[in-house]
Amino acid sequence: MNAKKAAKAVLASVLFQTKLIPLLQHFRLKDKITILLYHRVVDGTSRLPDYSPDGMTVTKREFEQQMAYLKARYRLMSLADFVSYRLQGRRPPPGTCIVTFDDGWASVYQNAFPILIKYHIPATVFIAPAQIENRKWFWEERLRFLIAGILADPHKNAADREALTALLAEEGFKGDNNRLLPGELALLLDRLVVYFRTRPQAMRRGFIAALEAIGRAGTRAPVNPFMNWDQVREMAAHGVGFGSHSLTHRNLLTCDIATAHTEIHVSKRQIETQLQKAVTLFAFPYGKQNEEIRRLVQDAGYRAAALTVRGHNDVHADLFALKRINIHSQVAATVPFYACRILKLFDKY
Ligand SMILES: [Zn+2]
Repeated sequence: MNAKKAAKAVLASVLFQTKLIPLLQHFRLKDKITILLYHRVVDGTSRLPDYSPDGMTVTKREFEQQMAYLKARYRLMSLADFVSYRLQGRRPPPGTCIVTFDDGWASVYQNAFPILIKYHIPATVFIAPAQIENRKWFWEERLRFLIAGILADPHKNAADREALTALLAEEGFKGDNNRLLPGELALLLDRLVVYFRTRPQAMRRGFIAALEAIGRAGTRAPVNPFMNWDQVREMAAHGVGFGSHSLTHRNLLTCDIATAHTEIHVSKRQIETQLQKAVTLFAFPYGKQNEEIRRLVQDAGYRAAALTVRGHNDVHADLFALKRINIHSQVAATVPFYACRILKLFDKY
C-alpha cells in the first residue's frame, strides 16, 4: 500500500468510526439519488485468477458486507421504481440507493443473488442477450486467459511460447516471454488490452484466433462466464429486474446506425420474450453514447438509460443519462472505503 492510500485508509476508518459518515451522507446526498454499478462478484477463495481487468470485480465476502451496510444506511429502491417515481412527478425519499450490475456474469447469479435475497435488495441486471448462454468471454478476458494459459508453465509448451513470442513481436511487443514474473505477465496483459482497445475489431479477432490456434487446449473458458436464461428467469421470479445492455455488447458509437438500431431494438424484444415482461431499462455498453444513440434508445420504448459516468444524480436528472458509481475491490475493499466511495469522498479512481 502506498503512503497516499494508507493515509486514505486511516481517514476512511476515522470518518467511519467517529460516525461522521452518516452526517456527510445527510448533507452530500440530500436530493441526490445514488446508483451503484457492479460487474462480477467472484468467489474470492479460488486461487485461479479471474482474468478481469481491474475495476470489474468484488469478492463475495466484500459484497455481503456492502449489502449489509447499504441495508442499514440507505433506502434501497429498484431502478424501475425510481423511474416510476420520476415519471409520476414524485420525489424519491432521501438516501435512495439503487444497485445495478452490468453484463450478466454468471458469478452474479452464483454469488450475488443469494445475498440480494438475504437482504431483500431489489437489484437490476443489464444483459446483452447474445452473451447469454455464450461460452465465450469478452475479448479482454479471453485474451488474458489465452496468453496466461500459454505462459503458465515454464517447463511445458516451449513451442507454444515461441509461437506466442513471434505473434506478439508482429504487433510490436518484443521480448522474452519465457521467464516472466507474475507482475511482468500482468503488465504485459494490461499493455496488450490497452493496445487492442484502439485497434479495429477484425484485427482483434484475428489476433485472438491466432492465440486460440496456439493454445489449442485452452480455447474455451474454464467455466460458463455468463448467466443462462434459466438463471435469468429464476432471478426475475425473485424480484431482480432486467434491462438491456445491447444485443452483443458492442460500442454503439463505432457501428453504423442501422446496427445500433438492431442492437437496441432486438435486445429488448429478446429479453421480453424470455421474461414475458416489458423491458424498459437500458445501459450503454462501455457507457458509450451520444445524442443520436440516446434518441434511438428513447424511441425504442425504453424509459431510462444508464451511463458509466461516475456521479450522483439529482432528483431531476435526465433519465437517459443516469450516472452510476462503479464499485470494485480496488476502491471498496473495506466497509469504510465503501462508505466513502458511495459519497465520492476521495474521488480519484
Ligand atoms: Zn458492459
